[in-house]
Amino acid sequence: MTNKETILIIGAGLCGSLLALRMAQRDYQVILVEKRPDLRKVTQDAGRSINLALSDRGLRGLRMAGVEEAAKKQCIPMNGRMIHDKAGNTFLSPYSGRKDEYINSISRPGLNMLLLDEAEKMPNVKLLFNQACEDVILENASATFRDFNSKKEMTITADVIFGTDGAGSAVRKNMFDSHKFLFSFSQQWLSHGYKELEIPAAENGGYRTYKNALHIWPRGEDMLIALPNLDGSFTVTLFLPYENSEYCFANLTSPEMVHEYFNKEFPDVVEMIPNLSEEFFGNPTGPLGTVKCSPWNSFGKVLLLGDAAHAIVPFYGQGMNASFEDVVVFDEILEKYNAEENINWSTLFKEYEALRKIDTDAIADLAVDNFHEMKEHTAMEIFQQKRKLETAFEAEFPEDYYSKYSLVTFKESIPYSEAMKRGRAQDKAILNLLDDGKMSDKMSLKEKLELVKKETEANLHDD
Ligand code: FAD
Repeated sequence: MTNKETILIIGAGLCGSLLALRMAQRDYQVILVEKRPDLRKVTQDAGRSINLALSDRGLRGLRMAGVEEAAKKQCIPMNGRMIHDKAGNTFLSPYSGRKDEYINSISRPGLNMLLLDEAEKMPNVKLLFNQACEDVILENASATFRDFNSKKEMTITADVIFGTDGAGSAVRKNMFDSHKFLFSFSQQWLSHGYKELEIPAAENGGYRTYKNALHIWPRGEDMLIALPNLDGSFTVTLFLPYENSEYCFANLTSPEMVHEYFNKEFPDVVEMIPNLSEEFFGNPTGPLGTVKCSPWNSFGKVLLLGDAAHAIVPFYGQGMNASFEDVVVFDEILEKYNAEENINWSTLFKEYEALRKIDTDAIADLAVDNFHEMKEHTAMEIFQQKRKLETAFEAEFPEDYYSKYSLVTFKESIPYSEAMKRGRAQDKAILNLLDDGKMSDKMSLKEKLELVKKETEANLHDD
């Protein structure tokens, strides 16, 4: 038995289930409530396999809760970006010059199931499914849910509530609608949407293209990416403008148009997706947006975490990683107060937001930058030269140089806001030096690195 307070967590996605596990490990009484059916029992998303890039910040969260090794068993390492041009040529651009730095493809439902299983093993966790949160009385930490099947209402009152109910958060909406305090909220949509497709496994069960990479078909305005699954398939995501473009979701309305578009832009993919138009018309088109809001807490009773507090576009592969890092940052602050008889949640929540928001704002902005980098810059000569130079720096001087991508993805000890500042200053330095022809072939790699460092410091100073 524990004698600690009751924590109600709304939303049993990736962030909510990790948080539930961690709070249970800290001896709280946890109630985790989810709108959808239990994904361990009911197939969801029409059985489509959806995967995510898991990297160091996310792994740190899993490690904290003792589930890193189990998660790694579900992972496929991706060592770099495999760039595909229109003629079907490919080249691999490593994510880092350090051999031990790579990202991982992992199944979203697989990881979610693992976290739910682990949470369920704890005697002080209660899981409820098919219960959609409809209303929150913020001052009382009290929430009302409607049962999907019976339509009956149920109210749960706790000591504190955590809203981990994702980008469209009902908890956040309650904070916005309450008019009881000043609540800032912004939502910015990209003009592009996304659609998931599948490259199935080959007839012999193998992979139809190189397994250990994140594949990108950059085409300027639009882009296709693919991440491997354990069963030999790849989950493919098309990012395309909704309208006002030669090819866009608004005009790809017939199988002929879809085939025309894919044959023109991604001919090598057409051979790999036998049911292209069925997949295209059978799968939904999703929007891509950034949500920023503040404050994340109300009355010291309710706190938003994960996408509910800061949804970002997926181009840095950091949304889940940032949500797991939220749990780590929160847990570190909780550790400071944990010995106290009665935790002052209001102080703790404010301290958490003061520390964390600057970093989630930074990754939100970096993710939008990376949208342009992936769809346009990866195909440009100067960008490729920059990546080669950075990879060489990282391989030769592993302690001395981290590219912006490495700072964000692999250097979990550096907050996102610092990674953004330094990474942008480095990018500007290298691109200017390359553009001005100041990096001559006669220079040694060490001399080039010193020049980049000097220019980076000057850029940091100017900002
Ligand atoms: P969610 O995973 O959305 O979970 C929220 C949960 O709350 C859900 O289970 C939902 O059913 C439940 N819920 C919602 N409303 C209610 C309610 N009213 N009552 C009760 N429960 C409710 N991130 C990465 O790190 N790497 C990637 O490669 C990556 N790729 C992505 C690709 C795409 C196309 C997209 C859209 C996102 C991607 N992300 C990626 C981001 C990642 O999916 C999210 O950041 C992550 O899922 C956030 O976790 P969460 O638990 O906060 O929200």
